[in-house]
Amino acid sequence: IIKFNHVNKKFGKNEVIKDLSFSINEGEFITVLGSSGSGKTTTLKMINGLETPTAGQIIVNNEDLKNANLVELRRHIGYVVQSIGLFPHMTISQNIAVTPKLLGWDQKKIDLKVKDLLEIVGLDNEEYAKRYPTQLSGGQQQRVGVARALSTNPPLMLFDEPFSALDAITRQNLQHEVKALHQKLAKKTFFFVTHDINEALYLGDRVMVMNHGQIEQFDTPDKVANHPATKYVKDLIGTIR
Ligand code: ATP
Repeated sequence: IIKFNHVNKKFGKNEVIKDLSFSINEGEFITVLGSSGSGKTTTLKMINGLETPTAGQIIVNNEDLKNANLVELRRHIGYVVQSIGLFPHMTISQNIAVTPKLLGWDQKKIDLKVKDLLEIVGLDNEEYAKRYPTQLSGGQQQRVGVARALSTNPPLMLFDEPFSALDAITRQNLQHEVKALHQKLAKKTFFFVTHDINEALYLGDRVMVMNHGQIEQFDTPDKVANHPATKYVKDLIGTIR
């Protein structure tokens, strides 16, 4: 569902992604780990066309991004970030319904979808739907962000450190929820950037460890934790042991 072929990305003279090649299959939960500045966010943003590579080829949903209509592409990619940017003047249901409305769905279909999504993210108490974002906790707002990203039923979901601003307990709850969500939504591909090693090892079917714009190791959590491929990975894992 995602394929990078010899991708490079420069910002001015600064080469932040270097000859990056990998492929991700439908339905995988991929976590991306690496220190600050290693190129995790840049990689994620190249998947939905928010950044364009300087060289190389990227294929998403069977389409070469060079030829893709990015507006159309993004409709098939959910995007969840740390500051979810809910619209403060809209209720929770209105926030979730933004894209379906833009797409001209009829109100009945929208209502059903919103109800369904609120249930999926555990906000199915009637009352939540009518509240405004400031009337929810940070963790609940993040759940709304996930529901909104799922509104068009995209096959691919991108998460960029979605839980990093939350307290440890809320964070842990949401980690369990997002894992359960991935299992429930069979066949959806999750690409999840985090700098939290435990989070990456817990959530990922495979963990991509990045350093200086390259992949150090891309393997199962067990292999990464117990058979680090490089010194960098070994040292990284060492920090949690
Ligand atoms: P973090 O964990 O801190 O979010 P990251 O691994 O996600 O880091 P990126 O955000 O991908 O790293 O950044 C990689 C490098 O590219 C950094 O050195 C950053 O300063 C640089 N960079 C990112 N975006 C831009 C930009 N728009 N213009 C110039 N340089 C940028």
